[in-house]
Amino acid sequence: MPQKTFSIIKPDAVASGKAGKILALLEENGFRIVAARMVRLSQRQAEGFYAVHRERPFFGSLVKFMTEGPVIVMALEREDAVKKLREVMGATNPANAAEGTIRKLYAESIERNAIHGSDAPETAEQELKYFFNTQELEQL
Ligand code: ATP
Ligand code: MG
Repeated sequence: MPQKTFSIIKPDAVASGKAGKILALLEENGFRIVAARMVRLSQRQAEGFYAVHRERPFFGSLVKFMTEGPVIVMALEREDAVKKLREVMGATNPANAAEGTIRKLYAESIERNAIHGSDAPETAEQELKYFFNTQELEQL
């Protein structure tokens, strides 16, 4: 059964012109782009999205980074999408990311790390709903 997950091409990767390469890599890895939109996150949107991290010391900096320029929010679909996307993304810190992963290839630092991917099926469902309506998430 195909599964959906949620992803963001973060402001660093959009600004450095890597969005196309990241989309190509996702497609090469079997992901179908179900929905996608370029958006500049408001402070409130970014704070809400990363609310789980609000007590972390890097929260303020993370919100500032995520609002500094446009991002591309996406609904992606494939078998085992949540787990596979995390594999293709690589470790949070690019210094620890495996060869060939998106973060190894394109991330600048542990914060400016090119891409977000939902960390569990339940999170994916919440995050997809945060950015897309039901109609956008339906099969076209
Ligand atoms: P994401 O949720 O964006 O897919 P992740 O699940 O790999 O990334 P999380 O632990 O959920 O990592 O952290 C969310 C984001 O916060 C990271 O992707 C990164 O941008 C930022 N971040 C995480 N840890 C740090 C840190 N120690 N210093 C600065 N920023 C950090
Ligand atoms: Mg996370």
